Amino acid sequence: MATEAGLLPHVVIVGGGFGGLGAARALRRLNVRITLIDKTNHHLFQPLLYQVATAMLMPGQIAAPIRQVLSSHRRANVLLGEVEGIDSENREVIVKTPEHGAIRVGYDFLVIATGVQHSYFGHDEFERNAPGMKTMADATKVRNKVLHAFEAAEGEPDRAAREAMLTFVLVGGGPTGVEMAGAIAELARLTMKEDFRRIDPQQTRILLVEAGPRVLGGFHPDLSTKVAQRLTSMGVEVLTGHAVEQIDDEGVTVGGERIAARTVIWTAGVTPSPVARWLNAPADRAGRVRVRYDLSVPGAPEIFVIGDVAAYEQDGRPLPGVAQVAMQMGAHVARTLAARLHNDAPPPPFHYVDKGSMAVVGRNYAVFQRGDIRLEGYFAFVMWSLIHVLFLALPNLRVSVFLQWVWSYFSGQRGSRLIVETPAAAAEEPVEVIRS
Ligand SMILES: Cc1cc2nc3c(=O)[nH]c(=O)nc-3n(C[C@H](O)[C@H](O)[C@H](O)COP(=O)(O)OP(=O)(O)OC[C@H]3O[C@@H](n4cnc5c(N)ncnc54)[C@H](O)[C@@H]3O)c2cc1C
Repeated sequence: MATEAGLLPHVVIVGGGFGGLGAARALRRLNVRITLIDKTNHHLFQPLLYQVATAMLMPGQIAAPIRQVLSSHRRANVLLGEVEGIDSENREVIVKTPEHGAIRVGYDFLVIATGVQHSYFGHDEFERNAPGMKTMADATKVRNKVLHAFEAAEGEPDRAAREAMLTFVLVGGGPTGVEMAGAIAELARLTMKEDFRRIDPQQTRILLVEAGPRVLGGFHPDLSTKVAQRLTSMGVEVLTGHAVEQIDDEGVTVGGERIAARTVIWTAGVTPSPVARWLNAPADRAGRVRVRYDLSVPGAPEIFVIGDVAAYEQDGRPLPGVAQVAMQMGAHVARTLAARLHNDAPPPPFHYVDKGSMAVVGRNYAVFQRGDIRLEGYFAFVMWSLIHVLFLALPNLRVSVFLQWVWSYFSGQRGSRLIVETPAAAAEEPVEVIRS
């Protein structure tokens, strides 16, 4: 099979995240041409985004240029552009490129791994005051907001306004909300405790709001309870069973109660990218494409959908949207393509092997769960640290993050406490004289 005479089969991969890059790497051994299309030029290690948002790591420490990751893969080409649709009849991907406008890229096989974006459950107006965290730009925006809150409070003469500036609300008690809450608590109570003269960062109020009955709903209830206790011991107020009803410039309304807070961060929900619409394919209630046992799309065996945007049931339950699922799906597509191109029997249906879930709460404490094995405490924290370092995409990132963590662990300091954008509103406010 070849698109043009004499050429190798062409596999187009859309998305350079865990699924897409996993597929590209696994296809290295196969005699195919690859074009990987992504709207950004980097592979982002999302599990550590919260560390960029809380100033522990620099953006460049958790993102790897896709070209660099694939540079030794001579048959892999990288295209920077945003996919806007699929013409499955003509086997072409429609891509908006920065320099050449819309172009069409033909394929023999197509692998789609475009992931998800945050969702405000029908309350898109919340986004203005409660940024989500999905991209590097999001994390940098959150970091600006968090650090700016302390700077604004330092210069604020009014007590109530100052308290609102030092109140942080995290909406969503999943792993990201839990990890963010722990990290902000340490930033305020450890890293910055000596740095201000008019405010005491240790007085910072941090609320973690979860609509469900417990934080870390995907973990065993015992681990949820222990994590909630740990957060409480760090000064985080954990509010479960409460949905956020309103978010505006002044704060949030939770369970009918008004909380003045100038920094609200959304970690609550996601929605898949519009792949089901592009392909006119069957989708689950969340909008993820229902894929077949080999991860192909019903009626289009040459198109595969993997990662967060795929709906795949195993043992009667949908697989979770985690990096391991996406990576294993990418490797499975490579095995399927190898079998097809070599006219071998197809591999057995995709089966996810759960290697465990983890969440970390500040320094020294994490939880781990795999089947009936449950760990919590310092040992889980060391495991969490090692695993996260090892899964970074490039060796230089592994070294850099490891050294940063060791230094931060012993010094209590952070890697990147930089505000790189001053909120426009602040610049417009009248000048006020501060008397100390
Ligand atoms: C803050 C956060 C923390 C997380 N923590 C963990 C964790 O601790 N452990 C864990 O296992 N999982 C975690 N996850 C989930 C994990 O990151 C995802 O399950 C995983 O990234 C899914 O891989 P994917 O390939 O499906 O999508 P992604 O990795 O999201 O990659 C999608 C790629 O597609 C590109 N793209 C999207 N749309 C287009 C388009 N139209 N055209 C071109 N390119 C496009 C994007 O730029 C991106 O590079 C976390 C997620 C987030 C957001």
